[in-house]
Amino acid sequence: MLRINCPCCGPRDHDEFRYGGDASVVRPTQEDLSSEAWYRYVFIRNNPAGLHREYWQHALGCRHWLIVERNTRNHIIHSVDFAKEVGA
Ligand SMILES: [Zn+2]
Repeated sequence: MLRINCPCCGPRDHDEFRYGGDASVVRPTQEDLSSEAWYRYVFIRNNPAGLHREYWQHALGCRHWLIVERNTRNHIIHSVDFAKEVGA
C-alpha cells in the first residue's frame, strides 16, 4: 500500500486519494491545434520504469490536487507538492 504524505493533512493511505493521470503531459498550444497534437495529448503516454510525475487528488481529505513523483519500479515516493504551486 502506498502512503502519500499530503502537504496539507500529513501521511495517508492511498485509498484516500484518486489517481488523476500523468502530470508530464502538456496540453497543445494555440499555435498547434492539429488533430495530431490532440491525439498525442489525449492518447499517447509514456510508460517509464523509474521516476514518474502523477496527479493525485486527496478526495477523502482536503481535496487538494497534488503532483506526486513516484518511482514505478519500487513505488517509493520522492516528492509531493500542491499542483497549483507547481503551475500544473
Ligand atoms: Zn490532504
